Amino acid sequence: TLFKDYALSPKIIRALDDLNLIIPTDVQHETLPHLLNHQDVLVKSQTGSGKTAAFLIPVIEHLEWEEKKPQSLILAPTRELAHQIAEEASLIGRHKRIKAIEIVGKQPFKKQKVALSQKQHIIVATPGRLLDHIQKETIDLSAINCLIIDEADRLFDMGFFDQVYDILEHIPKTRVTGLFSATLSHEINELASAHMKEPTQIEM
Ligand code: AMP
Repeated sequence: TLFKDYALSPKIIRALDDLNLIIPTDVQHETLPHLLNHQDVLVKSQTGSGKTAAFLIPVIEHLEWEEKKPQSLILAPTRELAHQIAEEASLIGRHKRIKAIEIVGKQPFKKQKVALSQKQHIIVATPGRLLDHIQKETIDLSAINCLIIDEADRLFDMGFFDQVYDILEHIPKTRVTGLFSATLSHEINELASAHMKEPTQIEM
């Protein structure tokens, strides 16, 4: 199976071609059909497996360019990872002219606030700074229809458990959720049963 055999729009196939992404990796092959179908997934996979594109391709496929409010939220444990995800999103979304904003700590809050008042399709965030924006009402999450939690085990190891639960309270329940983790702990299964809809479990 090749990327062009999936129900992806020509703009995405072209962007993948530009990046020399032709054949899906195993985790992409298993994950894409579910997320393209708006079904929740709980994915156990390592860094290097191609997991980033496994969630970014369906996320970007579903984005409506015209919508003014952000439609997808991706949570990551570190600023560095958030940056990598946002860069890859811009590349895969380039022919759709998709805008991804990084909402992470150690960056000027006000600059983020201004950027959030402009059109952004995807928010890639670390939990602390995202909660700052939620509390100060400088972010509108009312149109989020897709949530990705990346490296969930690291998020929890770094002590972001309560913050992630707080954030979940502020995102519409009518959304698809993808959770990616190198290990599936009790905490992760607990979050999945409380906040995901019959997720398909994929183990690579
Ligand atoms: P990740 O696991 O998301 O950190 O991805 C690891 C690396 O694999 C990245 O540099 C990607 O550009 C690359 N990659 C992702 N998907 C594919 C693919 N289908 N074919 C070749 N390389 C890929």
